[in-house]
Amino acid sequence: MISVVEPATEEVMAQVPRGGVEEVDAAVGAAKRALSSWRPLPPRERSTLLQRLAGELLRSVSELAQLEARNAGKPIRDARGEIEMVVDVFSYYAAAPQRLFGQTIPVEGGVDMTFREPLGVVGVIVPWNFPLLIASWKVAPALAAGNTVVLKPAELTPLTALRLEQIGLEAGLPEGVLNVVAGPGSVCGKRLVEHPDVAKVAFTGSTEVGRQIAQGAAATIKRLTLELGGKSANVVFADADLERSAAAAPAAVFGNAGQDCCARSRILVERSALEPFLERLEAAVSSLRVGDPLDEASEMGPLISAGQREAVASFVPDGAPVAIRGTAPSGPGYWYPPTVLAPVSNSDRAAREEIFGPVACVIPFADESEAVSLANDTIYGLSGSIWTSDGAKALRVARALETGVLSINSNTSVRVGTPFGGFKQSGYGRELGPDAAEQYTETKNVFYATQAA
Ligand code: NAD
Repeated sequence: MISVVEPATEEVMAQVPRGGVEEVDAAVGAAKRALSSWRPLPPRERSTLLQRLAGELLRSVSELAQLEARNAGKPIRDARGEIEMVVDVFSYYAAAPQRLFGQTIPVEGGVDMTFREPLGVVGVIVPWNFPLLIASWKVAPALAAGNTVVLKPAELTPLTALRLEQIGLEAGLPEGVLNVVAGPGSVCGKRLVEHPDVAKVAFTGSTEVGRQIAQGAAATIKRLTLELGGKSANVVFADADLERSAAAAPAAVFGNAGQDCCARSRILVERSALEPFLERLEAAVSSLRVGDPLDEASEMGPLISAGQREAVASFVPDGAPVAIRGTAPSGPGYWYPPTVLAPVSNSDRAAREEIFGPVACVIPFADESEAVSLANDTIYGLSGSIWTSDGAKALRVARALETGVLSINSNTSVRVGTPFGGFKQSGYGRELGPDAAEQYTETKNVFYATQAA
């Protein structure tokens, strides 16, 4: 059994069966058998079932948000927002079965046409930071395209995924279409990656595990989507609205206690605005309410585990340039206060590695060209923000940054209808947006001769 711990109390909140290779094989077998009923289902019927699932999820928002808040240690307001987005994701992709268009292509001697065919069984492997939300980004388009799914949640946060499986059945998904196996990544995740009957693995997690998955998938030429780590930049020019940019910076890096692949953990500030920006940032950080995830007023919860807290603390050794430190409750719970290091050089460890906790680095820059080269000086390229009142500069910098998702004078990275994914070692493939269901299909080309050859 897996003992599921509540990070705010350090107490066990549930026990769930720990899957192994046998359970993964059984789930893949069930998913493979279910293909024969799911794949040929008329698109409108698949749509109806997915819409029904969205409806059941909508009815369960408060239950699922409580589970996610307690199990992942995230503020209940954030958890509710995430589950509401899960509902939106299923509704959005419920329309996809009827929109997986092919093409007709002008050729000689006949008619040439393309079809979007489902891949088969899709393995979905997700992390613990946004457990159900990230699962939905993969499960919904995969099912919409006519695939069946085996979902492996992170060992620390399996509860909402297990509920999703039940809710799917209640909504009328045929048995075997959506299967969930909770268990260790090194056993269950690895087996999914190596299983010859799994056609694609859609993975979100660390760049290190992403590399292992890419190697494991090579043996069966498995299709992959990899959404990996990040070390994103929040670029603040001196001509920006400093009130707004400083007020927005804490949410951009301390949201989900910094355990966010999109965290703008490098705050690049034009040197001439450094002091006034830091003053405003200090006011914003000290007013952050860190506390009980189930309290409606909380804005930041604990970290996911003692190990994660230890890893985060290693980035703030004695003598680190701590410029701002917020507050956090003392135990029990894996608390860590929001912390800003300033000034930091982009070559320091805290500026190079993904911290995955509430620690931000402020890095000064001299001009636009240095801002771009510092922002791009990382192995990652997932997200980022640009703050300036000069529209042309904003667009120049946006085009120059090597990153998949950018916002100008805003923090947001994720919307149901827009593509999300990384450059460089932040991964490959795109999720969300109008084309995500196509990433769960193969293109088949068919030529129909209308003239004798
Ligand atoms: P992780 O890589 O340790 O684990 C992610 C998932 O992979 C878990 O389900 C785990 O059990 C499984 N896994 C572990 N080893 C495996 C193996 N050898 N084969 C197959 N599966 C295996 O990541 P984590 O600690 O759960 O999450 C944090 C990481 O996820 C961070 O690096 C973060 O940036 C990244 N992340 C990326 C995005 C994105 O969209 N780019 C979103 C959220 C999190």
